[in-house]
Amino acid sequence: MSDEYGVDVRLLAITPDAERLIESAGRLCWNTQEKTGTVPDRIQAWLEIGHESMIEHACATFSIRGSRAMTHELVRHRLASYSQRSQRYVRESDESYVAPPELAGCDGAVDVYHHAMSHAWQAYRELLKCGLKPEIARYVLPNSCYTEIICTWNFRELRHIIRLRATPRALPEIREVALRLRDIMKERAPQVFADL
Ligand SMILES: Cc1cc2nc3c(=O)[nH]c(=O)nc-3n(C[C@H](O)[C@H](O)[C@H](O)COP(=O)(O)OP(=O)(O)OC[C@H]3O[C@@H](n4cnc5c(N)ncnc54)[C@H](O)[C@@H]3O)c2cc1C
Repeated sequence: MSDEYGVDVRLLAITPDAERLIESAGRLCWNTQEKTGTVPDRIQAWLEIGHESMIEHACATFSIRGSRAMTHELVRHRLASYSQRSQRYVRESDESYVAPPELAGCDGAVDVYHHAMSHAWQAYRELLKCGLKPEIARYVLPNSCYTEIICTWNFRELRHIIRLRATPRALPEIREVALRLRDIMKERAPQVFADL
């Protein structure tokens, strides 16, 4: 299923030397800091027993592009910082929206969908022409509207999001985002994300 929604997930920043920082914070608890870096699965062993607070010391910032339906779900994750392109101050003049791949499995759905999008944007432009501000005209725009958001999460919250959202129970588009987050974090911090 991956890639069908065409979400864009890019890592913008990450705590430098994150795994060393996490391990030395964990080792402080036992006063064994001189052993930092000597046991490859040390962090995973702590995570297995639920000793997780030390992974909160590292965080990562991502730029994510997808539908407003998807970001509405993403921002429910509260232990985070978010900055999202505003529909109040930025005009959504381009008809730029996500078309779910599931439409193709239902006779006639693709046409119905694109027709509805075209009407929504036509109404948007007409409302702007009437002199309404984008913050009011946007009420006619659909959930599918493309948006961009910058998200900062600590590693504990990132693990939580991946666990909840990279499963078949999740909305397919946010699942695609979670799978990308998982792949990036497995590569950048394998000792913390190896089990996911
Ligand atoms: C498959 C699926 C279906 C969903 N369906 C719906 C739905 O129909 N309607 C709906 O409204 N939402 C729905 N949600 C959203 C869900 O209820 C959560 O709001 C969302 O997953 C955010 O995650 P979270 O609450 O675990 O915590 P986050 O905000 O990510 O916080 C991480 C953890 O911190 C702790 N925490 C954070 N804030 C508090 C707090 N105030 N009190 C105590 N502990 C806290 C909790 O342990 C929490 O798990 C759905 C989520 C999923 C994955």
